[in-house]
Amino acid sequence: MTVRSASAPTFLGEGRLEPREREYTDPGPGQLLIRVQANAVCGSDRGQYFTGSAVTPGHEAAGTVAAAGQLTGTALGTRGVVYLMDFCGECRSCRIGATNQCLAKRADMGFSHDGGYGPWMLVHESNFFPITDDIDIADATMLLDVMGTSGHALTRAQALRPDIESVYIAGAGPIGLGLAVMARLRFGSDIPVFISDVSRWRLDFAESFGVTPVLAGDTSAVGAPDVAFDSSGREVARRTALDVLGPRGVLVCVGHGERLSLDVSSDLIAPEHGILGSEYFRFDELDENLRLLRENQHYVSRVITHRVPVDHIADAFDLFLGGETGKVVVVQEGAP
Ligand SMILES: [Zn+2]
Ligand SMILES: [Zn+2]
Repeated sequence: MTVRSASAPTFLGEGRLEPREREYTDPGPGQLLIRVQANAVCGSDRGQYFTGSAVTPGHEAAGTVAAAGQLTGTALGTRGVVYLMDFCGECRSCRIGATNQCLAKRADMGFSHDGGYGPWMLVHESNFFPITDDIDIADATMLLDVMGTSGHALTRAQALRPDIESVYIAGAGPIGLGLAVMARLRFGSDIPVFISDVSRWRLDFAESFGVTPVLAGDTSAVGAPDVAFDSSGREVARRTALDVLGPRGVLVCVGHGERLSLDVSSDLIAPEHGILGSEYFRFDELDENLRLLRENQHYVSRVITHRVPVDHIADAFDLFLGGETGKVVVVQEGAP
């Protein structure tokens, strides 16, 4: 067995990042060794950034298969993205395709096992999704939280509300932007999509994707949308979304965070509102999202505002946490 030693950014806590040598073993049966080329920075990295991490963080990774273990069928050189959850494929959830609710997952890549800010990732073949040659490797990371998590939230809403004619999105951060992009791609440009935030910069950026910005708290223009999404995690934003929602409306909570208090009679029963949670996405949604990305790569890739070499990963986090960016993608120079 070969043991590779390579430098990876180590998250020491309190925002301190330092390159340290790590060891990477060959893939075992059913596993692939991925040479990481890009990993998008995410709000969910905040915890590890501030408290430190024993493993290398990064859960929005794209790269190339460099070595393959026994019982695998993926060719060396195959490019693709890594699905965060190393799902078992056999439990009750996985059997119906709900891999994001796997009851026996083996890992959360970037949280329990080394993720995409390092040079190598050891994954199971089942949570590696191959992409086509026409997709830029940094753009491929858009298949994960930006398109995947948002697309799943839209699908959750559509399951309860098939006749969607208006959309309201609370929060214009990366997930809110993803919701805006996916709503436009899925519903076309005919239906109104409103997005709210406290940040003028974020609203202006969201507007460039063809959605209508509203300052948080001012919902006078929003009407009574059929579906609302909360990506902010704020109780006040969830409450506002629920207050504006039309009859039969559905609120989908995508952003983790605060609470939501309800009056069951007036909030749920009388208007027949539905309130749903939506967590990450199903592996089988990647096919459709790849198709959408191939057809709209120019539109979707504008979500990425910065590409930062891994040597400058600290700058990538400073930029991202500054709040005036779309997605910031950390790229590995010298990778194939
Ligand atoms: Zn993420
Ligand atoms: Zn499972």
